[in-house]
Amino acid sequence: MSALYGTYARSPLAFERGEGVRLIAQDGTRYLDFHAGIAVNALGHADPHLVRTLKDAAEKVWHTSNVFTIPEQERLGQRLVDNTFADSVFFTNSGAEAIECAIKTARHHFFAKGEPDRYEIIAFTGSFHGRTMGTIAAAGNPHYVEGFGPPLAGFTHIKPNDIKLVEAAITSRTCAILIEPVQGEGGVTAMDVEYLRGLRALCDKHGMLLVLDEVQCGYGRTGKFFAYEWAGIEPDIMAVAKGIGGGFPLGACLAKGDVAKSMVPGTHGSTYGGNPLACTIGNAVLDRVLEPGFIEHVNQMGQRLRWHLQQLQQRYPDYVVELRGKGLLAGIKIKDSVVVRDFTARLRDDHQLLMQGAGDNVLRFLPPLIITEADIEEAVGKIADAFAAIEAEGDKEHVTA
Ligand SMILES: *Cc1c(COP(=O)(O)O)cnc(C)c1O
Repeated sequence: MSALYGTYARSPLAFERGEGVRLIAQDGTRYLDFHAGIAVNALGHADPHLVRTLKDAAEKVWHTSNVFTIPEQERLGQRLVDNTFADSVFFTNSGAEAIECAIKTARHHFFAKGEPDRYEIIAFTGSFHGRTMGTIAAAGNPHYVEGFGPPLAGFTHIKPNDIKLVEAAITSRTCAILIEPVQGEGGVTAMDVEYLRGLRALCDKHGMLLVLDEVQCGYGRTGKFFAYEWAGIEPDIMAVAKGIGGGFPLGACLAKGDVAKSMVPGTHGSTYGGNPLACTIGNAVLDRVLEPGFIEHVNQMGQRLRWHLQQLQQRYPDYVVELRGKGLLAGIKIKDSVVVRDFTARLRDDHQLLMQGAGDNVLRFLPPLIITEADIEEAVGKIADAFAAIEAEGDKEHVTA
């Protein structure tokens, strides 16, 4: 019996080392990692620059708290400002905390403007924003909210990708729209660029804030540094995490200067958030992500992945119902009779391919951003082999039945 909470339906598989896109289990079996710790290991495993940085940092200051100036945090914040829409950054340890900060920033902005009743946020079905009390209320997934007492008030949920529904949901109390440009957990649903532009226009028209959750789709994953760039728009606030620390727990809430300016001493804080060790690693991750050609490589690999998935769909039209996502946050909706949870277990155990499922029976591709086309071919080949094996088993059952 494990001493741990039973919150995760864990596989017994445990890993000892990682090398790039490979994870090596305790028994020596090598796995192809198209899971990347749920989009966290953007640079794969044991990236030499990250390893060197961590070893050096280990001998310096790990933690001081935000009572003191943290030069590595100042530097990472400035670099994020220099490369995004934002003027101001708050560092956290996770994605959920980045969303919490985004919600507090949006609401407090209107409070400080003398509009304290303007706290309602329009959010979307199929979204995922984390597991804190605030973020489960924000996403509104009934499975995650039920049993935990009254949910945090002030969220309205509508279906995404329909601008008329958003218009109809706006009231005098609406302060913000909160959305993932590409929904990850919910089923790898990419928002249309026209829709994102429409949301921006509605926010401008009604004086509301556009809050993006780029915890999963940001940091290069879709082939731009942030997914909002595809739509040619800018948010007012954005939550970032997952890839930003390359495996070290780190998150950030980015905001425009006028939006963040009411967040003065006493309004928010975190003991660990943005500590020297985390931000040293964060700077090293950013060194790699901003290297010339890095994001262009992701973009190319995203296109190659799409092409290979189209081929797979042509070969197995019964199994591949729909292709979804953007760049290296991709998904295939597989036919209902193949439950994605069983399918990822099969890929893992029979084909040594690590993948994650998502809502709506979607098989999710979240490889490290450093993958090559050969890795893509290998992964798609393994998936094809798994489909073929299921088909063969089905035929056998048919014959014996
Ligand atoms: C993972 C995720 C979160 C929550 O991040 P944690 O680090 O698990 O708290 C929030 N939003 C999105 C879109 C995510 O994918």
